[in-house]
Parts: sequence; C-alpha cells; structure tokens
Amino acid sequence: MLATACPGGTTPAITDSTARLANVFSRVESGWHTGRVHVTDPVIAAGEAVQGAEPCVLLKLGEIVLKGRNRQQFERLLHANIRAAVRDTKVPVEIWHREGVVVLRVAGGAGGPPDAAEAAAAADRVAERVSDVPGIVRVCRALRVPKTPEATVAAAVALTAGTTGAFAVRPRRRDKRFPLTSSELAVEVGRRIQEAHGLPVNLSKPDTEVFIEVDQREVFVFTGGLPGQGGLPVGMSGRAVALMSGGIDSPVAAYRMMRRGLRCHFLHFSGIPLTGPESIYKAYALVRGLDRFQGGSRLFVVPFGKAQQALATSGADRLQIVAQRRLMLKTAASLAKRLDSAALVTGDSLGQVSSQTLPNIAALDDAVTLPILRPLLGWDKTEIMAEARRIRTLSISELPDQDCCTLLTPRRVETRARIDDLRRIEGRLDADEMAAELAAAAQEYRPE
Ligand code: ATP
Ligand code: MG
Repeated sequence: MLATACPGGTTPAITDSTARLANVFSRVESGWHTGRVHVTDPVIAAGEAVQGAEPCVLLKLGEIVLKGRNRQQFERLLHANIRAAVRDTKVPVEIWHREGVVVLRVAGGAGGPPDAAEAAAAADRVAERVSDVPGIVRVCRALRVPKTPEATVAAAVALTAGTTGAFAVRPRRRDKRFPLTSSELAVEVGRRIQEAHGLPVNLSKPDTEVFIEVDQREVFVFTGGLPGQGGLPVGMSGRAVALMSGGIDSPVAAYRMMRRGLRCHFLHFSGIPLTGPESIYKAYALVRGLDRFQGGSRLFVVPFGKAQQALATSGADRLQIVAQRRLMLKTAASLAKRLDSAALVTGDSLGQVSSQTLPNIAALDDAVTLPILRPLLGWDKTEIMAEARRIRTLSISELPDQDCCTLLTPRRVETRARIDDLRRIEGRLDADEMAAELAAAAQEYRPE
C-alpha cells in the first residue's frame, strides 16, 4: 500500500524502508511532544514502548567536513541548496546541522504531514530529491526517537521486522553521556533483535546494518541508505560557462564540474540558419535534466551558422573544425565575462576525435585566456556513456539532430593545427569582435 503512496520512481531500497518506518510510526501513536504512549504492534510490544518516533532524513556529508575555516560558509551554502531542492517536493522541512550530518525533519513541524503514512511518504520524497544535491555522500531515511535506551531498542527492533538474513548493529555516540556505551548499546540492541525476530548476527558481512546515532538531543536509528552525489555543494567553487552540444560528452562534463562545486551556465551553438532547431531542443532537454543537480540553470543559445560560413569562406579549409571551436570558445569567454564566470567547461576527451588531439587542444587553449576545464580528458567513451546513463542524459543525447560541428566539415580534419594559421584566419574576420557580437545575440532560456 505504501509503495503506491510513494511518488513514481522511488527505488526499492527507499520503498522498503518506508514500509518499515511507516509500520513503526503508525503504530506508535505517542507524540514526540506529548509523550503519550499507545503501543499496539506486537513487534514493538515485544520490546519496549517507543516513546515517540518521527521519520526524518539524515544526510552524511562528504569532503565539506574536511574544510577548515570556511566550513560554516560551505555549510550555509549546502543548506541553501538543500532548501531550494526540497522546495520542489512541497514538503515543509526543518534543517538541523549536527556534527558532520544534516537532519531534515519532515514531521511534527508546522504544516507537517498529518498521518504516519503521509509523513513516511513525504520523507521518501525529500530523501529522493536531496539525493541529487552535490555535497552529500549518503541519504538515510531514519527514525528520530527520544534519547533513551528503551526507545532506541524499540525502534531498532521495529525497523528490522520483516528483514531476512544476518544483521549487525553499528552504534555511534556523539553524546558520551548516554547511559550505555556504544558496545553495551550494540549488545543490548542485538540481543533484543535476536529475541524478537530470531535473526543471526554477522558483524563482518551482514545483510542488514542497523545504524544507531546517539546525538545531543535525540537518537537516530536507520538501516541502509542511498548513495548521494558526493562532491561539493554547487556554488562553492564559483561559476563557469559550460559549452553544451547535443552530444553525450558535454552534459557529463558539466555534471562532473557541478559536482566539484561549480555553478554552470550553459551555452549551445546551433547551426541555424543552416540547420533546423532540433539541437536546441536537445540542449534544452539536457539542461532541464541537469538542473536537478544545481537549480536555477540558464541556457544561452547562439545561432552559429553564418559565422561558420564566414570561417569557411575565409579559407579555413582543413582548419574549419578547430577554427569553429576557437570561435565558440571566444564567444563563451565573452559571455562568461557578462555572467561573472571564471572558467569554461567542455566535454573534450583526449584523442576521441580529430579536433581533440594534443596539438589541437593546445590550439584551443590559445584562443582564450580563461581556463578551459575538461573533466573528461582522461575518460574513455564507454566510461562517459556509463556516467551519462547514470545521470539520465544519455537517452536525450542519443536523439537524432544535426550538430553544427558536422556542417562544413572538411574531407580531412587537421590533427596538428598551427596556431599561427588559425590566428591568420581569425585576423581576416576580426574573430574577437565577431565573438562579442555572437555572445550579445545569445538567447536565454530558463528550464522550469
Ligand atoms: P559531445 O558529445 O559533447 O558533443 P564530442 O565528442 O562530439 O562532444 P566535439 O563535437 O568535438 O566532441 O565537441 C567537443 C566539445 O566542444 C563538446 O563536448 C562541447 O563542450 C563543445 N561543443 C561542440 N559542439 C558544440 C555546440 N554545438 N554547442 C556548444 N558546445 C559545443
Ligand atoms: Mg559533439
């Protein structure tokens, strides 16, 4: 029943834990605030009464915990990103920061969901949404219970109801004043789970891990969790302009840089008027898909067909592709200035195509003074495709379109472009001026 109450696309792991959490929560009618206790569930009744349990989402942070003096600033940024992402779910959430973890409280707050199943489903929606927010390594659906051994045991016993195979208890005390030490807690909880469900213990290879975190004001109990995106909160590393074709590589490159804390603005060159608008639809769809990792994305589209023709008529010939790419980079640099962005991002991968040989990459670097970030430089195509599948951009990238780069392609592409030759071609056109005009003519789209 709960599975259908969950939003579409929830993973089995989440649905499983929801069912168990809702089971506990719905049968423990005592309020966190009132302390009323009505235990009707045989599982919980067999243990001690849970004095109040509340579904919440616990987030484990990645490298951010290693940051020194700027840590508070980074945490504030992460909270803002989490808040913005959770807004999509329309679930009211309170954010608490505790040593190395962030707690998202979904029930009990003003306007919180009224009943247990709804609270559990709301927590699932929140957990799923925040699993896309960079800076979080693990997303755990947890029960927040009062800080007593009885409530902790009862929650752990209830959460393991319906599990099979061996289990292990992994306690951790952030507050050492708790009446039981970590090992005493592990022994007690383990014994009670065994009594209640007859499950064996296996500390090295358990099927279910029961995590218990004793905090300053409460205890969190949970099993498993979902991997988060890892990396750093978007915005922490500044801003960049990501050159986004409709292909497979560039969305992955942008994603990898967002994951390192860069906010990416997107720039797409369409072959218009020499091509149709299909590549723009693809770029838009890709940006829309990537937006769940950073929010507030902006896509700039430049009609590039005429500029490509101008390069061709100025005799670019075998240098056409590299000359086009240099003009794209110059245009991107002009846009970056306007958007206060300090770098460009491309999906280049060394040697993947003839425009991405080492001499050509050097020729591209020469076009602009901004750093060009190429996170996929050392990636194989199969690795890039696997990542594209994981971040759900692959199926969009594989849709047919006519990329502007395939227009006016010479029969043989120069693999060792000479910078002097490229500069000479650009001199005939006043490429810098042209790039500024192209950037000024960019049309902006904001995915909803
Ligand atoms: P992709 O699969 O991302 O299109 P690719 O392997 O086809 O990359 P190229 O076409 O040489 O390689 O492009 C290399 C990089 O140049 C792209 O990853 C992207 O960053 C940028 N680029 C190429 N074409 C465009 C375009 N039409 N608009 C914006 N950027 C582009
Ligand atoms: Mg391409």
